[in-house]
Amino acid sequence: MVHETGYYDLLGVSPKASVDEIKKAYRKLALKYHPDKNPSEGDKFKLISHAYEVLSDPKKRDLYDQGGEQAIKEGGMSGAASPMDIFDMFFGGGGRMQRERKGKNVVHQLSVSLEEMYNGTTRKLGLQKNVICEKCEGYGGKKGALEKCSNCKGRGVQVRVQQIGPGMIQQIQSMCPDCQGQGEKFNSKDRCKNCNGHKVERKKKILEVHIDKGMKDGQKIMFHGEGDQEPGLEPGDVIIVLDQKDHPVFQRHEDNLMMKMNIKLVEALCGFRRTVQTLDNRTLIISTQPGEVINHSDIKCVQNEGMPLYREPYEKGQLIIQFQVEFPEKGWLPEHLLFQLERLLPPREDVMITDDMEEVELCEVDVQSQQKSYRGEAYQEDEEQGPRGGVQCHTQ
Ligand SMILES: [Zn+2]
Ligand SMILES: [Zn+2]
Repeated sequence: MVHETGYYDLLGVSPKASVDEIKKAYRKLALKYHPDKNPSEGDKFKLISHAYEVLSDPKKRDLYDQGGEQAIKEGGMSGAASPMDIFDMFFGGGGRMQRERKGKNVVHQLSVSLEEMYNGTTRKLGLQKNVICEKCEGYGGKKGALEKCSNCKGRGVQVRVQQIGPGMIQQIQSMCPDCQGQGEKFNSKDRCKNCNGHKVERKKKILEVHIDKGMKDGQKIMFHGEGDQEPGLEPGDVIIVLDQKDHPVFQRHEDNLMMKMNIKLVEALCGFRRTVQTLDNRTLIISTQPGEVINHSDIKCVQNEGMPLYREPYEKGQLIIQFQVEFPEKGWLPEHLLFQLERLLPPREDVMITDDMEEVELCEVDVQSQQKSYRGEAYQEDEEQGPRGGVQCHTQ
């Protein structure tokens, strides 16, 4: 039983969410609110990270479900890792040790269509990054012309004294803005004109991202050493995370593709022939055997017409089709013809009517008010099982 749902709400998932759903939610939010991309939302980034830290660990999640945030705090399981560590761990950045010798990794999300993941493609991604200044080779100015910073007297820090109350003063130490904490700087005539003494310059770099057949939502593509350059540091990596766009017809479930197909009652009873447009623009013809009856929400599959398997693109998953039978409108058949239809259909069962039974009227249900009172319940049911008989084919 779940008492508190705050962490789930932060990630925008249901308390019954699977591990994969939690990961996906974190992935999207963490990239959106990462301080590099959204500096004003640092708190949100922290909260998301903490929620993910708890919910992604089965033990902590259990504890949270039972006792809420309080239990996490009392269990000493609160805030074990920093939001950045969680982020780096998730997106495959190096550990702290590695980071000291290496520049920061940069993570970008790339929105990809299902067609692109099916057929494979190359996408060009323009990236602004810092590269070592060509003019001064990352030195920042004329060689040997570095001078002690006069503003901080070479300490690299500035100390400001502030009175915060009667007889109370506070010392505020901050990085020297003149030398950026280096303690040394070039005077203006020796400073490199190209990078203005910053040692690096902003340049646009085009990355070619190869999207292979069968790649998945959330899959990472690494570009080693393509992160920002900084003198004396090995550049970090650029990590591209694929984000699969929704498709109007197909939903993907691992290597299978699911679709819904509406068929008419006559097709359900008397057979049909239909076409399906594949993601590589072929047309498949599907049909039923004579005498076969398709029930509402029946599921059938076509072998080897799902998604290509990653690195084995000649193998494919299944195409799974769920049929929805459309019944004719009220009054579609004149009453005097109904008996003809009835003659053809399997016979109905007669009901024994006795005098002690009560005849009541069958009314239409007021759908709106019904939905209001049952919405909560229906919603939960949906999440648990999906459509009736939906087995594992229901997309998450
Ligand atoms: Zn200084
Ligand atoms: Zn320069």
